[in-house]
Amino acid sequence: MAPPQPRRTTDRLASLAALSSEITRCRRCPRLVAWRQEVARTKRAAFADEEYWGRPVPGFGDPGARIVLVGLAPAAHGGNRTGRVFTGDRSGDWLFAALWRAGLANQPTSVALDDGLRLRGAYVLAAVRCAPPANRPTPEERANCAPFLRRELALLGGTRVLVALGGFAYQALAAEEGLRPRPAFGHGAEAALPDGRVIICSYHPSQQNTFTGTLTEKMLDDVMARAKQLAGGPRQR
Ligand code: SF4
Repeated sequence: MAPPQPRRTTDRLASLAALSSEITRCRRCPRLVAWRQEVARTKRAAFADEEYWGRPVPGFGDPGARIVLVGLAPAAHGGNRTGRVFTGDRSGDWLFAALWRAGLANQPTSVALDDGLRLRGAYVLAAVRCAPPANRPTPEERANCAPFLRRELALLGGTRVLVALGGFAYQALAAEEGLRPRPAFGHGAEAALPDGRVIICSYHPSQQNTFTGTLTEKMLDDVMARAKQLAGGPRQR
């Protein structure tokens, strides 16, 4: 059962900040702790002068968001470097440009913690908070991190639409929400939850998908438009 939600905005902000602090100190998955630190130590040549974050990455965005976007995990040289989800990598370039085109972000780029990016009505997080080797968390690691997903979603009390960025995020959300039967994942597929919220599936904005045309800007824009449309309607609970 989800923990009780703070009612006042200031309480919600404080609770989210406390949760973020707790997330960034987590060491529950030995393999991921070792990997995130190893990547932060060895670095990519292009970022050799930067100090990597090298820790778990909490969610980011508008605490009153109606639209919550869920990714897989931080990228080794993206979120694991910058400390903000989908920040400093090509996937983030695609995602935040789409959020900006949809009017949900104040700028189309997301490059660093202090870049001035603000989201309006949207919040972005990852199902697993540490960068995994080869972008593949194990089922055990996903389960270890699930309580953070549950608690962060509970604190975002105004959510109406959950956008699952990729099949892994969809599986994590479906498991968390007890979605049965689970409709098949596909770009644009939707699954209604009993409380009136809706999960919308999107192909992940990974380079593999965007370079090959599997995911185009138009396809991502269509998902954002549908999310905004559903977020504007009445909530049943
Ligand atoms: S993946 Fe989640 S549970 Fe595992 S160490 Fe990172 S923050 Fe903790």
